[in-house]
Amino acid sequence: MAYDFDLYVIGAGSGGVRAARFAAGFGAKVAVAESRYLGGTCVNVGCVPKKLLVYGAHFAEDFEQASGFGWSLDEAQFDWATLIANKDREINRLNGIYRNLLVNSGVTLHEGHASIVDPHTIEINGERFSAKNILIATGGWPQIPEIPGHEHAISSNQAFFLKELPKRVLVVGGGYIAVEFAGIFHGLGAQTTLLYRGELFLRGFDGAVRKHLQEELTKRGMDLQFNADIERIDKQADGSLKVTLKDGRQLEADCVFYATGRRPMLDNLGLENTGVKLDKKGFVEVDELYQTAEPSILALGDVIGRVQLTPVALAEGMAVARRLFKPEQYRPVDYKMIPTAVFSLPNIGTVGLTEEEAREAGHDVQIFESRFRPMKLTLTECQERTLMKLVVDAKTDKVLGCHMVGPDAGEIVQGLAIALKAGATKRDFDETIGVHPTAAEEFVTMRTPVAG
Ligand code: FAD
Ligand code: NDP
Repeated sequence: MAYDFDLYVIGAGSGGVRAARFAAGFGAKVAVAESRYLGGTCVNVGCVPKKLLVYGAHFAEDFEQASGFGWSLDEAQFDWATLIANKDREINRLNGIYRNLLVNSGVTLHEGHASIVDPHTIEINGERFSAKNILIATGGWPQIPEIPGHEHAISSNQAFFLKELPKRVLVVGGGYIAVEFAGIFHGLGAQTTLLYRGELFLRGFDGAVRKHLQEELTKRGMDLQFNADIERIDKQADGSLKVTLKDGRQLEADCVFYATGRRPMLDNLGLENTGVKLDKKGFVEVDELYQTAEPSILALGDVIGRVQLTPVALAEGMAVARRLFKPEQYRPVDYKMIPTAVFSLPNIGTVGLTEEEAREAGHDVQIFESRFRPMKLTLTECQERTLMKLVVDAKTDKVLGCHMVGPDAGEIVQGLAIALKAGATKRDFDETIGVHPTAAEEFVTMRTPVAG
């Protein structure tokens, strides 16, 4: 049977655009549907605008530290509206780039909400198109628990477009988004409290990293409240919010920001017209080739709930395009050594196993750690300390994990990830010449294990 398209991609986000462009490049006839914004979450309400706000927040400490180097500044003023307008302009520019990328690679772009009518048919804007394969790349959406008053809370989707910087912000959650946005609000001058329901935030990260960040954020004056959760939110006559915690305490805020995870975006997608199955958490279930239970339908990225990171969605998009249209170049995605950064202030950078994971997996572990005051701060009052940590297998000498909390940790860990992917040993690290004077050189000068 002749189909309108070889591949119909639903969602022009990180994974969808990558799969569509490469599939078209391999000679396939491809269409992409996008209902909201080209580039998806990452470009519009994720990685990119977030990083721009993090840069904005970082200036607060730059100004503070500048005096140690002889600079004197009048009291710095910050204008939220300017930052948001400039951010919006940049995102608009990127939307245009994504449009050109798609069009120039020969992909047909359909702007509107797509739904699946049957395993080979898509409906969009009242028109129907047939496709040999359909790729679900619809991403995720913030999930806010339905506590009384949850309608007064915002998520990251709204945070990027607030008309003004709230004076008092309560951030709820202990994952990437909560920690990053707490840093943004705090850096830009809002009185910021981070509420997390567990003992210590960033579950799943190395224990030393979590503790170190807790100490650094506390030093900076952020109010961290662990073992705390909200029972209800009430709007008061003056527009402020009264927040009642489960332990009965009450807090006041001008903005309550929930960052409590993301659900798959499957709204009105028409999955009921297909044999696609969902996993226990509601994400689209796929096999190792991104194949759903419906033979003509694939899925990737945040909607499959594996690793919700842009570079992972990109790698999955590439794998799908190759598998379908260039099988001789197909290589599976390696999920084992995914480097990641939390753009908190200071940053976290991490790749490989945490100490806890390495021990759990039965490795005979050696730990190397360095804690120091970065050179840049020696002329300033700032007491911030950097943490670097290596997790090594004592038997094979292989470096199993690298972890850092400190300036530019995200930048530094990218290079280390290549070393770990290539199977570097601690001896390789030791024999690598440092770049002096940098913070990164500490990773090749740690000689004595702190724990075995
Ligand atoms: P998305 O990028 O979400 O794209 C899905 C697209 O599908 C969207 O454009 C949506 O509008 C469209 N769509 C949905 N349903 C339909 C439909 N029925 N019809 C047509 N179109 C539809 N990751 C990092 O690696 N680094 C970071 O620093 C980082 N920061 C983040 C910060 C925040 C605040 C958030 C929320 C996420 C962040 N992420 C980050 C995660 C990253 O954004 C996602 O992992 C990535 O965007 C997933 O790509 P995707 O292609 O699966 O989905
Ligand atoms: P995460 O899954 O990272 O964190 C969710 C947090 O919310 C956890 O601390 C969780 O607690 C808590 N939580 C979950 N449900 C509730 C609830 N009902 N009440 C109170 N707390 C709750 O999600 P995020 O929303 O922060 O981010 C989504 C994903 O986006 C991330 O996992 C990451 O993959 C990606 N991302 C990546 C970034 C980067 O690369 N820098 C930046 C931002 C996002 P508990 O731990 O106890 O379960």
